[in-house]
Amino acid sequence: MAGEQDVSGRLQTSEGIEIARKALDLMAEKSVPPTPQNYALFTHFLTDTNVELCAEMRTALDAGGPLEPTVLEDLYDRHFTFKRMQDAVLEVGGAMSRELGAVVRSLEAAERDTAAYGQVLAGATGELDEATDAASMKRMIEGLVSATARMQRRSRDLEKRLQETHQEVNLLKTNLEKVREESMTDALTGVANRKRFDEAMRAARRDADLRNMPMTLIMCDIDHFKRFNDTWGHQTGDQIIRFVAACLARFSKDYHVVARYGGEEFAIVMPRTALEEARTLAEKVRATVESKRLLRKSTNEDLGNITISLGVSQYRDGESIEALIERCDTNLYKSKQTGRNRLTVDNAEAKAPRGAAAA
Ligand code: GH3
Ligand code: MG
Ligand code: MG
Repeated sequence: MAGEQDVSGRLQTSEGIEIARKALDLMAEKSVPPTPQNYALFTHFLTDTNVELCAEMRTALDAGGPLEPTVLEDLYDRHFTFKRMQDAVLEVGGAMSRELGAVVRSLEAAERDTAAYGQVLAGATGELDEATDAASMKRMIEGLVSATARMQRRSRDLEKRLQETHQEVNLLKTNLEKVREESMTDALTGVANRKRFDEAMRAARRDADLRNMPMTLIMCDIDHFKRFNDTWGHQTGDQIIRFVAACLARFSKDYHVVARYGGEEFAIVMPRTALEEARTLAEKVRATVESKRLLRKSTNEDLGNITISLGVSQYRDGESIEALIERCDTNLYKSKQTGRNRLTVDNAEAKAPRGAAAA
């Protein structure tokens, strides 16, 4: 089945065109939207270029049902986005090690020269005792001057080399930070992804324990989102997801972490924040989402009102992160059950959370 590919994996010749055609046919047969990402998945599948991807695609296709967009996105993320990041990290790591290798070599050369210079100096001390005439004195001084000049040259070279390395390492550091940032960001919305959410939750909980400060979590889910997807299509669904993410980000402080928790679910991790403050913020977001009328980007059609349901929970001393998420999710579920477009906050009878005013 394999088609001939060049080094970057592009298909070549008529065989390539044949595979491209087959990929599009198979995508149409499975009602898969012809996005560049999906196209990449299907052409790689048909050319057998990635064994693991092929096996996973085969399982998904054999299951028979429609191919969920989330399944395809997950496959793409794991096999292409993550792979690209791994490559970038390896590349930066390799360049860093080459730079450091060059510095070590320069340092070794300088060490050899210093040792040689020491020997010249030691020799000169001996010669000084024996230097009885002007000629031997002159020879000795010339020897010292040239050895000193060599040392100066060497340290100038070394300094220049270190300066260059410093710049290069700074550049590599910036690249590495960019890659790290990218690996923690959700590509659709630009807010934190699930990985960063997990990290932020751990850090916020640690901080809350250490400093005896409150910490609160907001979780939210778009109401009747399936309807929007079914009526307007996946791309418009994505537009709505981006809109909700922007509303959450708009009201958050810079030390809050807004994250895409799942498909159309979001969370805000709020260190140093007690329940009331979080409730106020959650209400502002809810009201803002509800108040905007969204137009479909491609056609300008009115999408009607979007609403979200939210859960708000404050961390309780010693509880696990999972338990906090579970409580918050239960609150979110209550909001759904009691009519949607609302928030449910931890109930007051519960054990008094840290940071709450004493009764
Ligand atoms: P509810 O009010 O109870 O939340 O109803 P709902 O229809 O929103 O139900 P649910 O939250 O279970 O819907 C999730 C849907 O979101 C299913 C899935 O097809 C869709 N979805 C998940 N991720 C994405 C995505 O990245 N883009 C788009 N367009 N749709 C997605
Ligand atoms: Mg949902
Ligand atoms: Mg929903």
